[in-house]
Amino acid sequence: MTCRDVTSFLPNYLHGALDTEDTAEIEQHTAACDNCREFVREYRLTIAASQAAFRSVDAGAPSAVPDDLVRDVGADLGAST
Ligand SMILES: [Zn+2]
Repeated sequence: MTCRDVTSFLPNYLHGALDTEDTAEIEQHTAACDNCREFVREYRLTIAASQAAFRSVDAGAPSAVPDDLVRDVGADLGAST
């Protein structure tokens, strides 16, 4: 497996969507290749950061949003249904 193969398989690898043979090849390659090991590490961090960002959106509107704006948007949403 080449470095290019690792980068193209990486999204599926991290989602557990690769078969065991490809997974084993990626793990062998990243164990031996500093560049790919670092790439995988940063890729995981990026995914974790974006998931954290979405979680905070799901948790509700940030407190910096004015209350009357939240009320107006809520009223508009209520009016359209
Ligand atoms: Zn590599």
